[in-house]
Amino acid sequence: MKKDQMKMETSVIHSGYDSKDYLGSLATPIFQTSTFTFETAEQGESRFAGEEEGYIYSRLGNPTVRSLEERIAALEEAEAGLAFGSGMAAVSAILLSLTKANDHVICSDGIYGCTYGLLKLMNEKYNISTDFCAMQTAEQIEQLIRPETACIYIETPINPTMKIVDLELVVKVAKAHGIPVVVDNTFSSPYLQKPIPLGCDVVIHSATKYIGGHGDVIAGLVAGKKEFIQHVAMTTLKDVGGVISPFDAWLLLRGVKTLPVRMDRHCDNAHFVMEQLKKHPFVKGVYYPGDSEHADYSVAKKQMRAGGGVIAFDIRGTKKEAQAVLNHLSLIKIAVSLGDTESLIQHPATMTHSGIPEEERNKMGITDQLIRLSVGLEAKEDIWEDLKQALDQVQSN
Ligand SMILES: *Cc1c(COP(=O)(O)O)cnc(C)c1O
Repeated sequence: MKKDQMKMETSVIHSGYDSKDYLGSLATPIFQTSTFTFETAEQGESRFAGEEEGYIYSRLGNPTVRSLEERIAALEEAEAGLAFGSGMAAVSAILLSLTKANDHVICSDGIYGCTYGLLKLMNEKYNISTDFCAMQTAEQIEQLIRPETACIYIETPINPTMKIVDLELVVKVAKAHGIPVVVDNTFSSPYLQKPIPLGCDVVIHSATKYIGGHGDVIAGLVAGKKEFIQHVAMTTLKDVGGVISPFDAWLLLRGVKTLPVRMDRHCDNAHFVMEQLKKHPFVKGVYYPGDSEHADYSVAKKQMRAGGGVIAFDIRGTKKEAQAVLNHLSLIKIAVSLGDTESLIQHPATMTHSGIPEEERNKMGITDQLIRLSVGLEAKEDIWEDLKQALDQVQSN
């Protein structure tokens, strides 16, 4: 079977690796080596000159890592892929690659806290400015575009408010102005949403989340056009240096094999918990893209296979009471991160998004009452029982 004809459930297991190339080893071998030896000085010369295929040094390429890079490219239906030592190494490599001093970036209304921090740093150091945009209409985006706009950077669903950006709408505006569109696809994974076939240029993942899926690795992945990916590989990956280790690449190659199976269950569980949360009197609002009452449901339905595993909700209470809900849980663990087998809960205003000034935070919808839950793979009844008793206890106090 041709690799590009494989369905995703097959591709997560087989793309980017053929056991025939590695002495029949079913699992991808871990090439835990820093460097690669040349047989002669002349071979070294031709490897460096790019005249001969082959490995040189693991920061420039490694067989285990290459296997992972080919797999993410296949899953995102992109020409090429690239792996990084963290999601933020991927985000920073892409943003640094696309911008120069005095440029401008248009960003979705609400992004990962550290991406916000990076854009602030780029503003301080290189006068690269960022405008945030709800991106609900073409006009909203168009009026922000300037000659120096270097890229449009999107998260959808937006962390942690679960608002949805219409990727086709953004692509239409961006293409008319020749501006590349970058999508942080961490929350959906390629199983639920594929931005590249919709016309987006670059996809970024914190592979730490659903792609790894087991809470045991920090890593980043990127997919896009071959020429762009090669440029990043030889500049803001090679020279900035945020490479992934071969072992971590191996953990991702293993974790991603069950991505479709895991995502189906994450989505089922989240849907159930969402429905229960909506009926609980202490809960004011529930934000989940798979909820038919979600404000952006029609867009979510158009571009996502299902609603994903993350739910945000706000309680009828204070910051202290939101924290008390977390403190009353036992099965669900208090932790940032998401996409793991374990259900994880956190308080964005004081944790992941605490670096954002309060006024801006509130504008983004990240209030003191907002709680984010990454629904794990435990039995959905057990997850809800734990959450319900915590909500009940805090409500009655
Ligand atoms: C976690 C996360 C990141 C950063 O990834 P790391 O692997 O922690 O560096 C970026 N974007 C989103 C949406 C995330 O959830």
